[in-house]
Amino acid sequence: MIAVDLAWVAEAVTGELQLNGSETTSDAVINRVTIDSRDVQAGDLFIAIQGPRFDGHDYAAQAIQDGAVAVISMHALKLDAPVIVVKDTRYALGQLAAAVKQRCEVKTIAMTGSSGKTTVKEMCAAILRQHGKVLATQGNFNNDIGVPLTLLNLTPEHDYAVIELGANHRGEIAYTTGLTKPDVALINNVSPAHVEGFGDIWGVAHAKSEIAKGLPANGVIWTNGNSRFHSFWLQEYAQRQHKVFAVANPELPKQVQADIWAQDIQLDAQGCAAFTLCLGDKRQPVKVPIPGEHNVANAVAAAALCSELGVNIESIASGIASIQPVPGRMNVHTVRPNLRIIDDTYNANVASAKAAIDALASFNGYRVMVLGDMGELGAHAREYHEEVGAHGIQAGIDNLFTLGVLSQSASETFNGHGGQHFDHQDALVAALVETMTQQQELTILVKGSRSARMERVVEALITRA
Ligand code: ATP
Ligand code: MG
Repeated sequence: MIAVDLAWVAEAVTGELQLNGSETTSDAVINRVTIDSRDVQAGDLFIAIQGPRFDGHDYAAQAIQDGAVAVISMHALKLDAPVIVVKDTRYALGQLAAAVKQRCEVKTIAMTGSSGKTTVKEMCAAILRQHGKVLATQGNFNNDIGVPLTLLNLTPEHDYAVIELGANHRGEIAYTTGLTKPDVALINNVSPAHVEGFGDIWGVAHAKSEIAKGLPANGVIWTNGNSRFHSFWLQEYAQRQHKVFAVANPELPKQVQADIWAQDIQLDAQGCAAFTLCLGDKRQPVKVPIPGEHNVANAVAAAALCSELGVNIESIASGIASIQPVPGRMNVHTVRPNLRIIDDTYNANVASAKAAIDALASFNGYRVMVLGDMGELGAHAREYHEEVGAHGIQAGIDNLFTLGVLSQSASETFNGHGGQHFDHQDALVAALVETMTQQQELTILVKGSRSARMERVVEALITRA
């Protein structure tokens, strides 16, 4: 974090600084903020956040004992250390992050969307690292707590910030984008993901569209020309600097004028794409080292965002070529020359499950999808699982095994084609091991929501293969 003193913090969070007779004065400098008392380091500012199962105020004394300089709290505390009292500590965390961001001169990109946020973020970070020091969201720290904590890591050395914005309720993106104040923003796509907090898919679309709210007047918003919400965004952003990225394969609707797009897409035997990136009259071959045709759209989105910051097209291609696979996201384990287990167990929603099926379908030999439950899909969860089963038939994969409660509807839909449901992991793994002995060439893709913990299936398969 940039170095700030307690008086500055108190003003930033519109709080009352109570020195409590301690030796620490209002010009004491802090370099780091934490909300986790277990993570306190000497010199930290500890913010006491209340959650559904915990209250940070209970750990304030411990935080001071472990070396924190001061605490932000919702009430006075009997501590031998300064306390900044605010109405709402969660909000104070955001205010402090926004104030720190405002003091740092960093070119900032923010991305939201139902899927591909982290992938686009990793791609942008890889591209921009070739040109300067980048602060990027760690992992999936993309909510109303994670975004401010990320921004608080800004230092004067950073040239770029790449910030992922996720949401599970309306207003969250408006809030986090207001803290982030990006120069360039992206709505990657909209699909039925985390639908529960939004009512329906239009609710999701409106929530993602909040990303324009925190943009400065000259900020640029990029949206997805292949999305069914394309014309909605054209209207929504008619008064803004609005640009469109697209994958031109399948053919785009005629009314879509993309500013940047991909063409000549080809997939190699590992499911990794190569394509030609088109920006105005420039053409650049791009190779994406992580599997899945959906990563073409992600790469074009990353190219759009970075080109907006002035990065040239060659540098975009070399940045994308350098990215590393993220654990649990389309990680291909080649267990034997003709046996691949693809670990895509990090998370799942309808669009990402379909994208994963498409990627699986591009492999040679027998192809089995193993699906755990997809969570947070609301009242229509069963239909959404059926949709994935139907997509498996359409894409021509050879089998669909399911584990869980909701996912049973996916294998039932697939049933005429061999789909099979399992109540227990052991039975599922046994059936997959059996399939390994039967097939000469086999690819197994394992996917499910975080709550389904399907990585246990991957581990069991790798051990038993
Ligand atoms: P989360 O909501 O968990 O933060 P995310 O938006 O950050 O997700 P990623 O982590 O990049 O998304 O990707 C998660 C999964 O979504 C991938 O493993 C892949 O299966 C799928 N996916 C990624 N990009 C796309 C895309 N553009 N279209 C459809 N599916 C995608
Ligand atoms: Mg993510």
